[in-house]
Amino acid sequence: HCTIEELKQEVKLRVEAEARAKESLQKERDLNELKTKFLSLVSHEFKTPLGGILTSATLIGKYKKEEQQDKREKHLDTIKNKVKYLDNILNDFLSVERLETGKVNYRFSQFPLSKVVNEVVYNANMLLKDGQRINYPQEIDDYVIEFDEKILELVLSNLIHNAVKYSGENTTIDLQVDFENDILTFKIIDQGIGIPEKEQQFIFKRYFRAENALLDQGTGIGLNIVKSHLENLGGNITFTSKEGQGSTFIVKIPVNNNNS
Ligand code: ADP
Repeated sequence: HCTIEELKQEVKLRVEAEARAKESLQKERDLNELKTKFLSLVSHEFKTPLGGILTSATLIGKYKKEEQQDKREKHLDTIKNKVKYLDNILNDFLSVERLETGKVNYRFSQFPLSKVVNEVVYNANMLLKDGQRINYPQEIDDYVIEFDEKILELVLSNLIHNAVKYSGENTTIDLQVDFENDILTFKIIDQGIGIPEKEQQFIFKRYFRAENALLDQGTGIGLNIVKSHLENLGGNITFTSKEGQGSTFIVKIPVNNNNS
């Protein structure tokens, strides 16, 4: 025999247990959905570059003659670029996971700003379309800052790659650097396809890609990661954009100025 009170308690416990079970089921479903999305993204994103790598590797094997050295080198370059591209995608996915589980260790060090800028521009130069160019300041040579170097590289390379990817031939990408009151400001300005106004509110959401960007390759996670890292480090990212005219991304980070 149990009292009404005991019965009520029993019902309450059952209802709670059921709610917990539902919640964990939902979590499992969310996780599965994420996995499916991940797999379809990976297979889609990896197929084309892997095909290119295979083709180049096969051709290198065929170009055996001494005078075909140029061709061999061209295909080696192609392979290097495509492997780097795939490596970037994998790193992005790993970043998402680490950001999600809070397992990011930031490492601060002092380094010349020009080192990162030159490296990022050098890598982006390999991806340029015909007649595209990147304008960047040369006068920051001996400027030393304190920040997480890898993160700064990730942020700038994501934004510059996007600028290159979402702009046409014969366009210029401007990288501007400004320093004021311990805040370093980067502007990445392109003359590309821009972001449709009604989609602008979504572009930092993971996996989101605007309608007019779907012809280009991409995963929709770069900007999401960039924003999370910047916010973790006390910085921020904003943008302005006009469809068909271009976009400007503005990054602000707090740095210790070691030059004064
Ligand atoms: P991805 O480039 O891999 O799709 P991102 O997270 O870097 O992913 O960008 C998300 C979306 O924001 C892109 O798919 C595109 O629609 C838009 N976008 C980002 N940068 C630009 C840019 N410079 N010009 C136009 N659209 C952009």
